[in-house]
Amino acid sequence: MTSIFPARKAPDNLPRPVHWASAAVCKQRDVDPEIFFPVPTDLVAVEHAKSFCRRCPVQMRCRTDALNRGEEHGVWGGLDEDELRAVRKVRRAAAAKQAAQEKQAAEEVDALAKAG
Ligand code: SF4
Repeated sequence: MTSIFPARKAPDNLPRPVHWASAAVCKQRDVDPEIFFPVPTDLVAVEHAKSFCRRCPVQMRCRTDALNRGEEHGVWGGLDEDELRAVRKVRRAAAAKQAAQEKQAAEEVDALAKAG
């Protein structure tokens, strides 16, 4: 459908924060991104990828991002696939424990409300 009004757009000249990934070691022009997707059983290649991450200024941000996205393949934030999986497992267990504690607290409040 054609509008009778002229197309209007907001000006695209507002300053934007620089994305954290722009400081990543793996984004440098001379680094092959394939390095970060080694065959998981190739421990030399996995360690090679991790060596880049160890000197990366955004390592923790990268790791957190990868964990939050549920990345299953590659080396992210200095962690390989097994390590990422292990951290996610710990996080899930902690979340389940917290949910159980919150449920128990809510039940105790309900019981108190009914009693009083
Ligand atoms: S920590 Fe993340 S951003 Fe930094 S080099 Fe490793 S994969 Fe790239």
